[in-house]
Amino acid sequence: MNKKELLLGNEAIAEAIVAAGCQVATAYPGTPSSEILPAVARCADGQNAKIAVEWGANEKVAYEMAVTATFAGARACCVMKHVGLNVAADPFMTTALYELKGGMLLVAADDPGPHSSQNEQDSRFFAMFAKVPCLDPSDAVEAAAMVAEGYALSERHGVVTMLRPTTRIAHSRQAVELPSVRAEGLPVKFDRNPVRWCPLPALVRTSHPKHNERIRRIREEFETDWSRYNYELPASKPAKLGVIASGIAFASLCDVLKEWGRTDVDILKIGTPFPLPSAMADAFVARHERVLVLEESYPVIEMQLKDRTRVLGRCDGTVPGAGELLPEVIAKILLKALDEPAPKGDVAVDFSPVLEDLHLVPRKPQLCPGCPHRSSFFSIRRALPNAINPSDIGCYTLGINQKGIDASICMGGAVTMSSGFFLAHRVTDQTRPVVATIGDSTFYHMGVPGLLSAVYNRHAFVLCILDNASTAMTGGQSHPGLGDKPRRDDPGIAVDLERLVRGCGVSFVETVPAYDNAAGVDAVKRAWQHAEAERQPAVLIFKHPCMLLRQPQEVIPMTVDQEKCVGCRYCIDYFGCPGLRFDEKAKKTSIDPRYCVSCGTCEPVCPHKAIVKKGAN
Ligand code: SF4
Ligand code: SF4
Repeated sequence: MNKKELLLGNEAIAEAIVAAGCQVATAYPGTPSSEILPAVARCADGQNAKIAVEWGANEKVAYEMAVTATFAGARACCVMKHVGLNVAADPFMTTALYELKGGMLLVAADDPGPHSSQNEQDSRFFAMFAKVPCLDPSDAVEAAAMVAEGYALSERHGVVTMLRPTTRIAHSRQAVELPSVRAEGLPVKFDRNPVRWCPLPALVRTSHPKHNERIRRIREEFETDWSRYNYELPASKPAKLGVIASGIAFASLCDVLKEWGRTDVDILKIGTPFPLPSAMADAFVARHERVLVLEESYPVIEMQLKDRTRVLGRCDGTVPGAGELLPEVIAKILLKALDEPAPKGDVAVDFSPVLEDLHLVPRKPQLCPGCPHRSSFFSIRRALPNAINPSDIGCYTLGINQKGIDASICMGGAVTMSSGFFLAHRVTDQTRPVVATIGDSTFYHMGVPGLLSAVYNRHAFVLCILDNASTAMTGGQSHPGLGDKPRRDDPGIAVDLERLVRGCGVSFVETVPAYDNAAGVDAVKRAWQHAEAERQPAVLIFKHPCMLLRQPQEVIPMTVDQEKCVGCRYCIDYFGCPGLRFDEKAKKTSIDPRYCVSCGTCEPVCPHKAIVKKGAN
């Protein structure tokens, strides 16, 4: 018997990717998918497997590297989170119609809830939009098994195949059986054939109908040969209700029914939401008076059903239009569908008394103590309090607590939003400083094209790149500015940030130590003067490594002089380090030793000079 290991869902997927003989694995980090590529590298290093494992500068780059490897016959995969697929949408939509040579697995991890994402979009809709098959696992074991099946499906039909785990599958642990044998990679040889590999309009006119035919064949296959993922769990008593469920909602549904001891609900489990095994699903609907559809996050299965007159789901409002289908949510929906009161032993547990006992103080999401971004935001706000501050997606989004962020959209948006604010003011003959913030990884990901455009079009604003030498929010992955790659003994080259910015045509570029507030304030003021006078963007690089990288740094113990503190809360409202604690009764701030890491960056914050180095007062 193969060895079983307790693995994170993402680790199980990674093990399966290596075992499936994948030859090129690429990704851009994003929660909940971030652990997959490092785990692929660890597994490949451990087995000395021949796999190129690379971070792309963004998801489009990562996807194009992987899918092109399949043109030459290699087996490839690309991993990203759902919003990353928006970035990779262009090549994804086009190559969906290609007849690929090697197997291509796209892992698009969704975040219903959402736990750490800017939206709740459902990648299964993207699969349906692009017309590629989608595999929707309901636990880690199934996710790992679907990797090999996904490759086989991809190679049988020459199509991109999407695997779509969700947060609770990616981040839960389960005993997973590891394959004992690694599949052989495919022979690699690129045959020149522009008709096959170039999406000329004339060719698309023939490839699209061919692709429709492939999807029809895949649907037939899902109806008949995929019974391990698409199957019925019939009720043992006369069924009061039929439920079609997929993904983690299926696992939660089974838990709820088991808890209630109910055996009068028929279940149709769907592991292949697109193309839906329609004959199977429509027959299930026809056999029941009422059918409830449980799926996260959008009505993908529901909308593919032919007759929805007896169907309860998101379309008729039985299932909420947003949020996770947690067991307690499913319990409520089931009762509504069954038209029954709550049974004894309801799985919806009330945790509030437990939380009260723990005396937990709810806090807003915050930057870490000693985080260099906090000092940078403080400098930016102090230098130009009247400025508009666009920002981006990453840890620095938490600068919103320091009133340092006015607007944010998506990765790279800080730069292009600055252009938008500049243009809106210019056409109405107004001038207002615009000082934007973006992280180093995010700048490499999607900031560069916006900056090129701003230089070309002469847009006056200050772009502050908060360089903490990490893709910090997703767990500290590497990026082109660092040069280290995921696999052992596979060195990269670091792309110098300042030279890159100068190469974009920016004439004012300065690097500032993020902890140095006086230097930061001065640099922001000078940068804006230059941008305004020359009508072009100016760039500041605020530099200090992420605190979570645990690099040794100077220890500066701080204290708050209680005599001088007047309780104005300025330090709390505009700096907000968790190491600063405000006593509402005494109306005084003090240092909280549980969180303070003695970075010393709060010293210049207090307008009354109450925050001082220990021993200095
Ligand atoms: S430490 Fe300074 S800024 Fe903070 S509450 Fe006291 S006086 Fe105000
Ligand atoms: S020294 Fe100040 S800024 Fe640094 S962690 Fe302590 S309280 Fe926060």
